[in-house]
Amino acid sequence: MISGLPAIVFSKGPSQDHGESLMIFVSSNAGRVKLCLFAGCVLLAAVAAAQTATAVKNPPATHGIAVANIDRSVKPGDNFYLYANGAWIARTEIPADRAGVGVFSLLADRSNKNVAAIITEAAKSQAPAGSSKRKIADLYNAFMDEQAIEARGMKALEPHLAEIAAIHDRHDLAVALGKTLRADVDLLNNGVFSTSNLFGAWIAPGFSDSDHYIPYLLQGGLEMPSASYYLDDSAHMKDVRAKYAPHVEAMLRLAGLDDPAARAERVIALEHALAETHISLADIEDIAKANNLWTRADFPAKAPGLDWDAYFEAAGLGGQQQFMVWTPTALTGESALVASTPIDTWKDWLAFHLIENYASVLPRAVAQENFSFFGKVLTGVSEQRPRWQLGVGLVNANLGDAVGQIYAQKYFSPEAKAQAQAMVANLIAAYHKRLDALTWLAPSTRAEAQAKLNTLYVGIGYPETWKDYSAYEVRPDDAFGNSWRASLWYYHTQIARIGKPVDRHEWCMTPQTVNAVNLPLQNALNFPAAILQPPFFDPKAPAAVNYGAIGSVIGHEISHTFDAEGSAFDSKGRVRNWWRPEDHAHFEQQAEKLEKQYDAYEPFAGLHVNGKQTIDENIADLGGIAAAYDGYRASQHGAEGPTRDGFTGDQQFYIAFGQNWGSKAREAMLRRQILTDGHSPAQYRADTVRNSDAWYKAFDVQPGQALYLAPDDRVRIW
Ligand SMILES: [Zn+2]
Repeated sequence: MISGLPAIVFSKGPSQDHGESLMIFVSSNAGRVKLCLFAGCVLLAAVAAAQTATAVKNPPATHGIAVANIDRSVKPGDNFYLYANGAWIARTEIPADRAGVGVFSLLADRSNKNVAAIITEAAKSQAPAGSSKRKIADLYNAFMDEQAIEARGMKALEPHLAEIAAIHDRHDLAVALGKTLRADVDLLNNGVFSTSNLFGAWIAPGFSDSDHYIPYLLQGGLEMPSASYYLDDSAHMKDVRAKYAPHVEAMLRLAGLDDPAARAERVIALEHALAETHISLADIEDIAKANNLWTRADFPAKAPGLDWDAYFEAAGLGGQQQFMVWTPTALTGESALVASTPIDTWKDWLAFHLIENYASVLPRAVAQENFSFFGKVLTGVSEQRPRWQLGVGLVNANLGDAVGQIYAQKYFSPEAKAQAQAMVANLIAAYHKRLDALTWLAPSTRAEAQAKLNTLYVGIGYPETWKDYSAYEVRPDDAFGNSWRASLWYYHTQIARIGKPVDRHEWCMTPQTVNAVNLPLQNALNFPAAILQPPFFDPKAPAAVNYGAIGSVIGHEISHTFDAEGSAFDSKGRVRNWWRPEDHAHFEQQAEKLEKQYDAYEPFAGLHVNGKQTIDENIADLGGIAAAYDGYRASQHGAEGPTRDGFTGDQQFYIAFGQNWGSKAREAMLRRQILTDGHSPAQYRADTVRNSDAWYKAFDVQPGQALYLAPDDRVRIW
């Protein structure tokens, strides 16, 4: 995708993220990292203020680059990001209820405002029971009825807490753990690499049989975003952990458990032990390490400890014989901990995770305690969003397609769709030409790359089929139950697909999501309607601006088709390395150069960008801007676009690209992004231009300037 980070952080339990994005920071949630999205932490800021004013003043619509955002006192060659966005940054404040603001969040504000209007209309429509409109209205209203939630208190949790209390032996424990399995991770599309359940499941096309769905299993068990939060020795992380302990204690007290301090200590020690079994984010992204097909018999042999039969039976997977195990060493380590850690500690861990994951639909005291840690401490946000915004996020998460269908009809015209499709065609043509001209790719490799382009499905605006919510029961007076049933409903719909034929045109984003995504196992791209809006895409803007903005986004996603990850998937979406060793050698050499370029960035003293962790996304940015530039020049029949506002066509192209990344984020949020996100922070994404020859010419960038790279040091991959 284009942007990273999480989404709906509606406590993991409830919304499970499947409905997609519009990032809200509702509750807990530890980190769902959305990789390959396009925007990194900028998005986290999203769901914004719609009806309340944002602090960000956008210049009036000019159908072109935002000249008022440029800081002319900065030389483009010294800091292109600041040059393109400095004036905007200077006049913008991050609202108290956000971790950051940026172009993505401004667009998300607009999308949310539109979704809010759809919900309001659904509520007024008195739609018949069982209809999607009625479900939208009931889901939203149940969440908004804070009085009812307060009156009900912790009653909603009681049966679940009683089930946990009734666990007597390791068999019971395995059953309880199995019942928590959800389809709450997404390993290649949305890049959700974290679950607080023991393991996460993803139902997707198989690595070798990409025509059928198979379950994937991923490490899990942590409430904080990643293992680093438990293991890292930096002062910042020590401070986070010092604040985590009283938070866990407070949640256990709210769950009604006695001696919460001692329980919290044991729960944190267990999470720490689980963290030690985890593999790093960089390793998780390594497809070769993930390619582990296990049969049922492999589990007790390779990962002894957990009663796997009981676990899978309780998870509704008793008959399933094959699984893709993404993180085998972590499964082994975690399974051993299930056997070696006292049962009572696991029971406390289950109770704590239950209340944490559903905090947003429980009484205010619980929701506030959750926010005090996951919002304030982990992202630096000082105020919770207005409740209606959280409600919009909840509806997007749990009934995303129901809302999306209405959204697409109202806000995405057939004309806009046709124009966007024409741009996609130009970008694909640009890639074809670039592949033709690459001398380092062997002919057989080039042929498969071209085949991938030829079979690529590019979804524009909205999906061709919509999710069917008829089996999802929504009650107007049951906020907790609505969230509980949403994650179960989604899980059941997902596991029901195991073994069935793959729908390559299926979307993994809703139309109202401000993002874009590459789905490697389907060889497909999704560009939702909500990102195909100004300033990314404006039918009235010059070609230079549209190509610099949305063109580079489209190019970014296409690049994933061929990158380290893409090279692992062939034109049918199967995991098959279609590169020759020489191709890899050249690619790796260039990638290493780019890694070093990003490793050198040091946003905070002692904290560098991780070039390895962000390499795929940085290469995608690099490929995206190169193909977009070609597409733009091709659209002008090779010439430069017309000068406007004193900027040449090429200057407008690069400024539009740089302005994609205009953003401001809080330090805690940025630090979190650097540790857990596959995307580089926004400013360095804008500075990708330093690898582009035409940028030097456009802005007369000279040796000695901070971003200057000698021609040999500029990285060229596609
Ligand atoms: Zn990406």
